[in-house]
Amino acid sequence: MSEEKIYYVLAFYLFTSIEDPKLEVEKHHAFFKDRDVTSRIYISHEGINGQMSALKEHALEYIAWMKSDERFANIDFKCHTYHEQVFPRATVKFRKQLVALNHNADPHKGGEHLAPSEWKKMLEDENEQILLLDVRNDYEWKVGHFEGAVKPNLDIFRKFPEYAEELKGTYDPKTTKVMMYCTGGIRCELYSAVMKDHGFEKVYQLNGGVIKYGLEEGEDKWLGKLFVFDDRLAVPIAKENRAPIIAHCKHCNAPSDTYYNCANMDCNELFLSCPSCAEKLSGCCDYDCTCAERLRPYEKEKQPKPFRRKHYYEEEAKRPDLVPVAPSVVKPE
Ligand SMILES: [Zn+2]
Ligand SMILES: [Zn+2]
Repeated sequence: MSEEKIYYVLAFYLFTSIEDPKLEVEKHHAFFKDRDVTSRIYISHEGINGQMSALKEHALEYIAWMKSDERFANIDFKCHTYHEQVFPRATVKFRKQLVALNHNADPHKGGEHLAPSEWKKMLEDENEQILLLDVRNDYEWKVGHFEGAVKPNLDIFRKFPEYAEELKGTYDPKTTKVMMYCTGGIRCELYSAVMKDHGFEKVYQLNGGVIKYGLEEGEDKWLGKLFVFDDRLAVPIAKENRAPIIAHCKHCNAPSDTYYNCANMDCNELFLSCPSCAEKLSGCCDYDCTCAERLRPYEKEKQPKPFRRKHYYEEEAKRPDLVPVAPSVVKPE
């Protein structure tokens, strides 16, 4: 048997002044050129935000390379292991903003960082008036979140400043301890600054986000899985992987935290399904979509991957055998 390859999946960011971000992009491309790396890395004048996967030794080389540059020496690399690459290619791009937000938030004026152990302790303290705030999207929240957390009911996060203003009607900004968390920590750097700008005085952010919490504290206080923006889609936050499934199949409501992109390429909605409903509906989000013109053939997969149009067409061109088949429309019970 051939030895299984080990990939490191890294998540990291750092707010630091970068004089020539486009040059850093070039340097990254050159560094990745002869290495087995896939990534989604954004570099701006205000810092770097990265996710990547790489063959273990190449990931270690990357970390050492970054640490040798004093501007990046303090980056906290959070690391999972996986059996394959999790991004379609190595993407490194210049971006004007690291986090999209209609508000001039200063990450240096954000909430106090709490290490995962301090975070857990604060959650356990029942005497505190706490607002535990999840600053992620609906589809992330659905598959997993901290017990007792509140999720802003926002369609887009650009509206967060208005939401912060509204919260003052329910929570006393002087006495409420606001505990904010997100996937890897970067969103909280800015959103916690917004909360402070709106008058909340006791604002805390989970340092390193849920990823670091899982790595250091395990699954205590956490329900479900963690949504990630790569081919894995949802992962257990810790090795023990005993947290209950909290999400449900869109079709039959059975517990499931497996995401699919609708097989109708003109819909492509991200939805949760159990494997048997996915098969019955040929990977579609509803019955209408099973009758659509442009359907991808349904391929049964234990761990479905997010659908990427461009990627798909490239694959399709290489595979003349991949002919879309008419789905069987059978209503699940
Ligand atoms: Zn189902
Ligand atoms: Zn659909």
